[in-house]
Amino acid sequence: MRTTQIKETVKTCLSSLPPGVDLVAAAKTRTPEEINAAVEAGVRIIGYNYLQEAERMFTHVGSSVQWHMIGHLQSNKAKRAARLFDMIETIDSLKIAFEVNRHCADMNKIMPVLIEINSGEESNKTGVLPDKVDDLVREIGTFSHIRVQGLMTMGPRFGDPGEARPYFRATKAAFDRLYEANIPDVEMRFMSMGMRNSYEIAIEEGANIVRIGTYLFGERHK
Ligand SMILES: *Cc1c(COP(=O)(O)O)cnc(C)c1O
Repeated sequence: MRTTQIKETVKTCLSSLPPGVDLVAAAKTRTPEEINAAVEAGVRIIGYNYLQEAERMFTHVGSSVQWHMIGHLQSNKAKRAARLFDMIETIDSLKIAFEVNRHCADMNKIMPVLIEINSGEESNKTGVLPDKVDDLVREIGTFSHIRVQGLMTMGPRFGDPGEARPYFRATKAAFDRLYEANIPDVEMRFMSMGMRNSYEIAIEEGANIVRIGTYLFGERHK
């Protein structure tokens, strides 16, 4: 898309979001010109699936915006991820939490994280299974240099976005349960939910972070 058009879609999208809902611009494959146009139009959070791509874009955009990791994080990238990101939305195991915590401790940084739930219980997807999330949150809650701030889910992909609703509801149920549990050092504030086409339904079901790519930038570059 041309940068003038990106600015228009970003402004339209931002003005359509209810107060209190944050937009993460899902930026994979985009050019620095496209990302800078989105930032000029008001994007405050950039989301990346791959660390290397985020590092490259950081050199063009810098720390005037926040950087969220929204893809699966590998342990061997935990150190660089700890340095770059302002939030990791995809913590789904004790192992990756341990690595992020260790590197953040070295850097004297406290990393806000979301726990990724595999709400569709799909065997090929990342994320912790819904019946394991409470235990994982309790354990990660004891780590000194990461701070659990909520949940993230993709939900299964459907032609009809309405079909994703039960998975958003399941994620909200887990969120409410953890909120009520009042676990020490766990601060349940954010639910990052939805995929292409389903973010409006995700908001109806309680999402206050939405990750949007194609709608803002057009079809992805290959
Ligand atoms: C790419 C991506 C999105 C946005 O998807 P679009 O279809 O481009 O809107 C949201 N969440 C995650 C984790 C993604 O990787």
